[in-house]
Amino acid sequence: MEVINPTTEERITTLTEDNEATLQKKRDRLSMAQPAWQARPLAERITVVKKFRDLLAVNREPLSQVLTSETGKPLAQSRNEINSATARIDWLADNAAKYLSDEIMQETPDIEERIAYEPLGVIANISAWNYPYLVGVNVFVPALLAGNAVLYKPSEYASLTGLEIERLWKEAGLEKDLFLTAIGTGSIGALLLEMPFDGYFFTGSYKTGAHVYKQVAAKMVPCQCELGGKDPLYVTDDVADITAVAAATADGAFYNNGQSCCSVERIYVHESMYEQYVDAFVKEVSSWKTGAPTTEGVYFGPLTRKEQLAVLEAQVADAVQKGARVLTGGKRGEGKGYYFQPTILTDVTAAMQVMREESFGPVIGIMKVKNDEEAIAQMKDTEYGLTASVYSASRTRAEHILRQINAGTGYWNCCDRVSAALPWSGRNHSGFGTTLSHAGLRAFTNPKAYHLRKV
Ligand code: NDP
Repeated sequence: MEVINPTTEERITTLTEDNEATLQKKRDRLSMAQPAWQARPLAERITVVKKFRDLLAVNREPLSQVLTSETGKPLAQSRNEINSATARIDWLADNAAKYLSDEIMQETPDIEERIAYEPLGVIANISAWNYPYLVGVNVFVPALLAGNAVLYKPSEYASLTGLEIERLWKEAGLEKDLFLTAIGTGSIGALLLEMPFDGYFFTGSYKTGAHVYKQVAAKMVPCQCELGGKDPLYVTDDVADITAVAAATADGAFYNNGQSCCSVERIYVHESMYEQYVDAFVKEVSSWKTGAPTTEGVYFGPLTRKEQLAVLEAQVADAVQKGARVLTGGKRGEGKGYYFQPTILTDVTAAMQVMREESFGPVIGIMKVKNDEEAIAQMKDTEYGLTASVYSASRTRAEHILRQINAGTGYWNCCDRVSAALPWSGRNHSGFGTTLSHAGLRAFTNPKAYHLRKV
């Protein structure tokens, strides 16, 4: 399998793909090793996880270089990703004892009722390329803390990072055969679905997620799907500093080239603020540099996947054909690399693809709305349900709006943000199941009920 640098379009290296036989062997090795890991005291598992965390921090620079080379993510953003990953591991490791230890729920002189959080066993973790450290950590860290073994399939676009992660687990002292990678394209992910794992944890698109869920259903084992979104953001008429709001929300839409599951994907602005907001938004985005992701100060690098260029072109063409105005960009970049110009569209309608389907790139539609009711109706008009955001001086007003939106996360005066202490979950086409928080630690366990009669 060739690994291509999206900036230069040159081959970085060639990797040997797994196949059915090698995957089966890896599955067997994990299965052999897992019971001993489960039997180790939680405190010892936490120590290994903390060592892995320290190695990520110490190796941040070379790891960032690798990540940038295969995904095109600007170096500063690669470094940020690793910083955030270490912070997430801190929360998960620091809270593991609280949420994974046995709990006595009721006790009388005769009987003790206890919950034990047993690991699932060997899990398959099929992951995405856009934040391989973050979406990876969400799954494999709590899974290992809980006593599972993990077969980790990085996206083909983040395979080198996947191999680095495997190497660091070894270096951290994780026993052999508790964390193994499955290298290859989507067909390798498909093979994993045919094999008997004790849980399937998928991060990716709705289309693939729906396939994963269907394939796994008959196995009757836990399955979680963290999928895409079409996350709305509403700017009300009472915000104090519209320039600051435009800058913050532009970053929410365009950080990582818009390739974030919780990127702002649709913006609604109260009519009284609309002109000022759009002006400030365009000014802000136009001030950001495009270039090679290894150049310091660059905000827009290439997209990771060449195929997405055609998706974005089609969305822009559809919008223009239906009456949208292109304020900036709208086209591929020139020369080598999978560049797409940062694109701001106005005069958009809910009938346009750009307001309905995940763009997953540097393209945003901004729509004027008359009042909160219209904003709410627009925000709700989606099959997705990952996040929603409201910018307003009034917390009451924002919370009133957010309560009506069927999404896993609500933001007031912020956006495109994840906290390890809070559940990360989607609704409808954004998936189901939870990572992070107490629920994300326990997602990799089967709670067993013990009724222990003492006499
Ligand atoms: P894909 O659905 O294309 O791929 C996700 C993973 O599934 C990859 O490892 C892929 O392998 C693999 N895969 C592809 N085909 C199959 C198959 N038939 N059976 C099993 N596995 C398969 O998503 P992307 O990698 O493009 O990720 C982007 C999507 O992920 C966006 O929609 C984004 O919003 C979402 N996402 C959601 C997050 C969340 O927390 N909710 C976080 C991050 C991303 P390969 O890449 O090698 O083809």
